[in-house]
Amino acid sequence: MAYQVITAWPGYQPPVIGLWNWKAASAALWRMFPITRFRTGTDEPYVDQELWPARGVAEHAYCPRLFYYMTVEGVFAPSADTEQGKGTHRRVDRPSAAPADAADQECRNGREATEKLEQSESDPDRPRSVRSLALTSQRLGLTATLDLAEIDGNVAVPVEYRKGRPCRNGGSQVAEAVDELMEEPRLLPGPEPWPTDRVQLGLQVLLLEEAGYSVPEAYLYYAAERLRLRVPVDDALRQDALAELDAAKRDAAGPRPPPLVNDPRCPRCSLQPICLPDEVNHQRFAAMTVAGQPVDEQLTPRKLWPPRDEGIHVVLQREGVRVGVRGQSVRVTDKDGDVVKELPLANIESLAVVGGVQLSTQALAVFAEQEVPVAFLTGAGRLTAMMDPLGPTSAAVRAAQVRVLDRPDKALELARAVTVAKIANQRTLLMRNHADLPTRAAADLQECISAAENAATIDELRGHEGNAAAIYFRHFAGMFKEGVKEIAARFDANGRQRRPPPDPINAVLSFAYSMLTHECTAACRLASLEPTLAALHATRPGRPAMALDLMEPFRPLIADSVAVSGFNRAELVEGHFLNTAAGCALTDAGRKAFFSAYGRRMDTEVTHPVFEYRLSYRRMIMLHARLIAAWLLGEVPTLAFLTTR
Ligand code: SF4
Repeated sequence: MAYQVITAWPGYQPPVIGLWNWKAASAALWRMFPITRFRTGTDEPYVDQELWPARGVAEHAYCPRLFYYMTVEGVFAPSADTEQGKGTHRRVDRPSAAPADAADQECRNGREATEKLEQSESDPDRPRSVRSLALTSQRLGLTATLDLAEIDGNVAVPVEYRKGRPCRNGGSQVAEAVDELMEEPRLLPGPEPWPTDRVQLGLQVLLLEEAGYSVPEAYLYYAAERLRLRVPVDDALRQDALAELDAAKRDAAGPRPPPLVNDPRCPRCSLQPICLPDEVNHQRFAAMTVAGQPVDEQLTPRKLWPPRDEGIHVVLQREGVRVGVRGQSVRVTDKDGDVVKELPLANIESLAVVGGVQLSTQALAVFAEQEVPVAFLTGAGRLTAMMDPLGPTSAAVRAAQVRVLDRPDKALELARAVTVAKIANQRTLLMRNHADLPTRAAADLQECISAAENAATIDELRGHEGNAAAIYFRHFAGMFKEGVKEIAARFDANGRQRRPPPDPINAVLSFAYSMLTHECTAACRLASLEPTLAALHATRPGRPAMALDLMEPFRPLIADSVAVSGFNRAELVEGHFLNTAAGCALTDAGRKAFFSAYGRRMDTEVTHPVFEYRLSYRRMIMLHARLIAAWLLGEVPTLAFLTTR
């Protein structure tokens, strides 16, 4: 039986997909687009008091940029560590049952607390253990949900849970356990709280004291060692917590802080695929060196990203097959209900649906929840819709995109960078594959590159881009081998034509550009870029202009290359095409052959010319989308797109 899932290639390195934190993101929008509101009946403006979560402020102690991403912009990327941490918190995050006098307690001493007690702990003579205790202080501008508080009258002891181990940096020492034969026990590093844990506990102490409790001590519970570590409550703890809160508030009011430099925290950080610390620093330092400014650090970017390598990309194209989700599997069934393919849901990174494939609403909901983007293409390969899960979207990037691309000089800079890279890659592809490329053609393309580099307006740039495209496609047929000369001759006669494609090569190019548009749109969303607002491509209704800008350098490297190699290797043959009134189209077998070649190309690794590490083309697209976002925010001063030699 033929599989309906025609392309599901393993080994692709997927992105870490983050979660949209509505609360933090809306707070970020408020900060970026401040609206002064007025009290009813007066003209006196007021501003809502900001309440900073203690957990977010503790992240500031780890890295100010991490705090900014997660707490100010609402960008969060789960990692194995964070998922494990959630498991540790699961029990303490379950609120205790509400007591009858909870309403009274909320008002007591002006505190805003919701205390929920377990029924078994309601004996008035016993200290109460209160889980998920929410505390807020308007005066401090601080809020927290305590894992656990042991409350006895007016005395409270916070207990914070951690999945890992305590810090053992040698600041304190404990004697090794000995038996009677060992005379002198060694001194071993004693357990200490990590700085972030200490800050979080200090903030909880401040909130409890603000609520009228006396807090004599506090505890951290490190699950990996089942260790309950006592933290003395003193002025130093309070002052350190307050200083961190002040620093976090200051940083939140400014732009995103720069990344840490060559720091061991970054490889463990779940946000490094989004933050790109080494890549951003490398570009910053390079620009400073060019400008003659002193640079303390020399940095060769580590290949921190991507951290995972599992994941599959699925393309479904057989008419009438159904896609559903059963438990943790995606199940593809034929018209008779027979299962033809079952795939683990957790490994699916994207889904492309071509033609009349049935997708249940439950399956769509699960894909949305799992943040799997779904693209819908017509049988002719036209991208008609995308279901885009809400990924790690930063309002700051979109606000910067609107602001920066409104400036003609900056829009020209981006348009110029993608155009120059595209023409350079077209020239390279021709020089590599053309059997007899006239020297004049290569020289003309080089002149187009120089002209594009010096274009003074976007209209002028578009003119140079058009000239280069004319030269490129005039010689395009020369890249096909002897066995496909007849197909190549038809392309040569027609030239590049999009709708409808009149011949097999045009049909494959159109299909490949559609797939690439889908990949680039998904990459834009992951990088928090607004896909419809760009520089080279004007904004039109329904046009993913930024995705089209991003894909310019990749057109020759991926789509054109798939067409050339697909025909030259006889993976695509005349029999894979149908000539209809709507133009030349791929048959089912033709699309299957196309997706196979396309998938291989996307998995092909290339060396980044600046960062000098190897990434697959799919990863390269995502990297460049993130670098555009960093450039829009002013984090990297220059734009450089992938060119191959
Ligand atoms: S990758 Fe490094 S610089 Fe970036 S947020 Fe994480 S710790 Fe901070």
